Amino acid sequence: KLVEGESVRKKLHNTILELKGNIRVFCRVRPLLFDEAAGDEPKAVSFPTTTENLGRGIELLQHGQKHSFVYDKVFVPESSQEEVFVEVSQLVQSALDGYKVCIFAYGQTGSGKTHTMMGTPGNDDDKGLIPRSLEQIFECRQTLQNQGWKYEMQVSMLEIYNETIRDLLTTSRTGSTDSRAKQYAIKHDANGNTHVSDLTVVDVHSSREVAFLLNRAAQSRSVGMTQMNEQSSRSHFVFTMRIMGVNEGTEQQVQGVLNLIDLAGSERLSKSGSTGDRLKETQAINKSLSSLSDVIFALAKKDEHVPFRNSKLTYLLQPCLGGDSKTLMVVNVSPAPSSINESLCSLRFAARVNACEIGTPRRQTSVKQLDARLSYG
Ligand code: ADP
Ligand code: MG
Repeated sequence: KLVEGESVRKKLHNTILELKGNIRVFCRVRPLLFDEAAGDEPKAVSFPTTTENLGRGIELLQHGQKHSFVYDKVFVPESSQEEVFVEVSQLVQSALDGYKVCIFAYGQTGSGKTHTMMGTPGNDDDKGLIPRSLEQIFECRQTLQNQGWKYEMQVSMLEIYNETIRDLLTTSRTGSTDSRAKQYAIKHDANGNTHVSDLTVVDVHSSREVAFLLNRAAQSRSVGMTQMNEQSSRSHFVFTMRIMGVNEGTEQQVQGVLNLIDLAGSERLSKSGSTGDRLKETQAINKSLSSLSDVIFALAKKDEHVPFRNSKLTYLLQPCLGGDSKTLMVVNVSPAPSSINESLCSLRFAARVNACEIGTPRRQTSVKQLDARLSYG
């Protein structure tokens, strides 16, 4: 009986993997910040562990109601940058093997997206996913060179602000005025390569060079003021590294792409007190984030029509989202009781693109039902 149960479980698991395709969702809960220390308030976020959802479950308490979710992986506030990277490094590696990879950081402003992606500048132990990925890629390149592989690597960095692309590596002195005159038209060729007209593309040879460019890009990123965070990022940051490899012995060729994306804050309209320009920003952000979830949802369901063209972000990344490409969504969540509504929204967004929320039949799809049976059945 037990063995039978085990094989049913395995079958279900494989079906889920098939249904999900190459889309994974991680959740990361940051620690409470110093001025958020909750005192006697009951904890709003907890991490129930059963043998079946070990390291994958998270519960949120909102107005006394419990909401449970299961993802591919849940990182607790104590999880280090290193622990997060260990779970991501294989995915990064696959870009060197010729895969197209997208890693997104999603969440409200202040939930830890930039910390997850970039880390703390100047603090080496606290480096985020982007610098760690680059180090790994250049280290592996060295190793693979001994096996006859020659690599060329190019990076570009852009932001999408109000559905408009801005080049973050442009050296043009006229800066933003100049950028506005440019079209930055997105084109995909027959080989699945994306070209953005006028976008600066830089050949790179070391992680140091890329670090320098990242620094430059960070300086030219646009930041706005909202009630939530003085330096809140109101744009999507897209780091793209194209990796072209040729094996001189076998003449085998690979073309991988690594996209690392720090998404704009997902907070809803009311909370950031938006009017005027801020309102327009927020609407553009909401539109592109819901387009992103629509696209990933459609891909997961293997829909025939995937609405890539509904936003700049999804259209830009189209060749890196479909097919045999690999996508990881890291959903960042604040554990603060004051953020509980936004956190629930983020967890639901994540549930929509992959796992399941237990006990909300309205939202369940076949993938979610299967997952629920696997985890709790
Ligand atoms: P976002 O980019 O989503 O707006 P940040 O990455 O800037 O959020 O994080 C907000 C604050 O929380 C920053 O001060 C950051 O250093 C801190 N923080 C976020 N995640 C962590 C973490 N895992 N460990 C420690 N501090 C964190
Ligand atoms: Mg940020």
